[in-house]
Amino acid sequence: MIFSSALAALRACSGVIGVLVLTSATALAAPAPDAAFQRAFGEHFFSDWWRLYPDSAIENGYYKGADRLVVPDERARADELEHVGRWLEQLHRIDPKSLSPPVRADWVLLDNQFKSTQWELTQLRDWQWDPSLYNVADPFALLLATNYAPVEQRLRTVMKRLEKVPDYYAAARSNIKDPTPEHVDLAIQQNRGALGVFGDGLAKQIQASMLSAAERSVFDRRITAARAAISGYVSWLEALQKKMAATLRPAGPHDFGAAAGRVRSFRIGRELYEQEFAFQIQSGESAAALYHRAQQEKERLLERMGLLAQLLWPKYFPNEAPPGDRQELTARVIAEISRQHATPADFVPEVKRLIPQLEDWVNEHGLLEVDRSKPLVVRDTPEYKRGVAGGSLDPPGPYNPGAQSYFNIDPFSELTAEQAESFLREYNRWMLPIFVIHETVPGHYVQLMYSNRSASLIKSVFGNGATIEGWAVYGERMMMESGYGGESAEQWLIYWKWNLRSVCNTILDYGVHVLGMSEAEARQLLVHDAFQGEQELREKWHRVKVTSVQLDMYFAGYSAIYDFRERLKKQQGRAFDLKSFHERFLSFGSAPVPLIEEMMTASQ
Ligand code: ZN
Ligand code: ZN
Repeated sequence: MIFSSALAALRACSGVIGVLVLTSATALAAPAPDAAFQRAFGEHFFSDWWRLYPDSAIENGYYKGADRLVVPDERARADELEHVGRWLEQLHRIDPKSLSPPVRADWVLLDNQFKSTQWELTQLRDWQWDPSLYNVADPFALLLATNYAPVEQRLRTVMKRLEKVPDYYAAARSNIKDPTPEHVDLAIQQNRGALGVFGDGLAKQIQASMLSAAERSVFDRRITAARAAISGYVSWLEALQKKMAATLRPAGPHDFGAAAGRVRSFRIGRELYEQEFAFQIQSGESAAALYHRAQQEKERLLERMGLLAQLLWPKYFPNEAPPGDRQELTARVIAEISRQHATPADFVPEVKRLIPQLEDWVNEHGLLEVDRSKPLVVRDTPEYKRGVAGGSLDPPGPYNPGAQSYFNIDPFSELTAEQAESFLREYNRWMLPIFVIHETVPGHYVQLMYSNRSASLIKSVFGNGATIEGWAVYGERMMMESGYGGESAEQWLIYWKWNLRSVCNTILDYGVHVLGMSEAEARQLLVHDAFQGEQELREKWHRVKVTSVQLDMYFAGYSAIYDFRERLKKQQGRAFDLKSFHERFLSFGSAPVPLIEEMMTASQ
């Protein structure tokens, strides 16, 4: 639950923030190479970019061209490659060394974005083997649910966009060559869900609108055709699934990618993994090196947790001798203290109470300044995005930086009593604050607020996931170091358990995609070694099969930020100031950590 919520937050974050700073006035004031860069990659570039990617434009709150659905055929891919190639050429006419550090960071982010697009289209080629890439639902749902324009205007945009849905799914079918069974399953499940966007809710919205009778009848026809196209895709995938099962051998744990005579493995293998890692994480370190660091970190954490559990044992089990096995001892103490948790009725009030308390804490402890002029609103997750995560953050988009931020929490009414109890035990008295710290203060919410003030649109749109997730994980550490939770052994034990999860995410992801880790080995890692529940194992195993490298972001970003801070502390000695370190770090937006380090040390 936590990680899907973190993922949702990231999805929200990756498109966030930033005021358009690339106006002609700033371009004039900038030194010549900076100005040249800003002319080439300012507003004009973005209007081309959004024309190429209207779905992502909608996610970012940019609605010009929202009525266009791109049909993912050969021509669209050629168009994309042509654009990206031209931009790359243009970019490389500017020498990054001649740019000021913040603009150089933008240069690096664009370079990485363009090259990773080329790599995805020509090397990874997931458009051939991942049928879940094809799903029209999200942008439609956003257009219908976001109040950016009068409802009639939004409905007309939807109506226009609907026209191409049948072509879209026809192109999807002809793209798919050798899909993995896991991505076929996911595509079936998610496209079934997509039908909901074109159901009763939409019919009611149309009925209540001022659209003319003629418009309504066109709309009706297009909805019927779109629903048929989606259902057609689902049945086509179901047939494909049967055919694959009948004619191909299944892939084993040590099969990677595609091979003749067996189904394609969801495990992408070492070569593609390292490449994807370089594009996504941008740390300069190899995935293999991160994996080895994660292994060592895991051992360190388990040792610390074992000592804390030993210390706590007599308090919770006064009449019983402690087990000799460290894992068993730790697991039993964790299970016992997890019984202290909120009730379903006071869970949300507790979250609401925590946020201002966390803001007070970071201000009073000199960790960073939080702007409290526009408080975060805690609300029930809107219906169309429920069930993905226990909680998520909805920040304002880059084109609407003044808008309200929401912290969404899935209502308990949709859980069985047993599920609710298991959720509440996981988010117990000590875990809940860590979760809220991660999502809000000083985690994601604060990071986004700072980016809003100072980062460029490039850093907002193409921000680095490891920096975003790493900051939230680092924020937890920052709070614990400042004495949050009263230095109690319980608080530290539960904190390390949560932290261990980030570390094990890396071990799992690399293990599965590169080393052939089996489901049984994953269970040993997550349930036995890292004290997670069966539900968490199920969710994580599912996630690792349909994504790669994403799960590395937490530990990669966190350890990079933490290590950078420790280096700087050593260098600066008594001159080191924690508050200004945090605030300056955040002022560079979501650039990759090594680049922020370069900028911070250059501008000292
Ligand atoms: Zn997160
Ligand atoms: Zn209970």
